[in-house]
Amino acid sequence: MKRYVNLREITVKEPLKVDTEFGEKLLDLPAEEVVRATPFSLHVEIHKRAVGYNVRGQIKGTVTLRCSRCDREYQEKIDGSFSFDLLPTSEITEGQIKHGELDVKFSDEDVVDLADVVREQIFLNLPVKPLCGEKCELEDYKEWNGEEKDERWSKLKQLKEKLDRKEK
Ligand SMILES: [Zn+2]
Repeated sequence: MKRYVNLREITVKEPLKVDTEFGEKLLDLPAEEVVRATPFSLHVEIHKRAVGYNVRGQIKGTVTLRCSRCDREYQEKIDGSFSFDLLPTSEITEGQIKHGELDVKFSDEDVVDLADVVREQIFLNLPVKPLCGEKCELEDYKEWNGEEKDERWSKLKQLKEKLDRKEK
């Protein structure tokens, strides 16, 4: 299992290609967001550029999340590809900060921790509002409709009672 990559060992002619896997412990995901996680596979390629590097690849795995609506645990498959440029901090220009480019990262470190890359990509792929499925929303919708129906029934009942009283 390869975790640390030394960027200095990568040449223009020879990009680095790594296939590896990280278990839940190494990924260190916050329990309040991710209940459990299967090991995540990572395929990553790092290409040296005239300035900096391009990092691209794919992560795959499954996380157990808590549904934001019914609070049940459910599994969400994560299969995401990514690509970003890694540039030295000397390349930071005002424009880039202003526009907040997501596909550019700045770092002067020679070593990249691949577990960090996977952790970050998992976060980017997590749903903003976890839902156990479309059904969960539908159940809610039915309940809501049911309440309205009940109200109508009770109004009809009241009307019938009034009529009954008049007949007496
Ligand atoms: Zn749900």
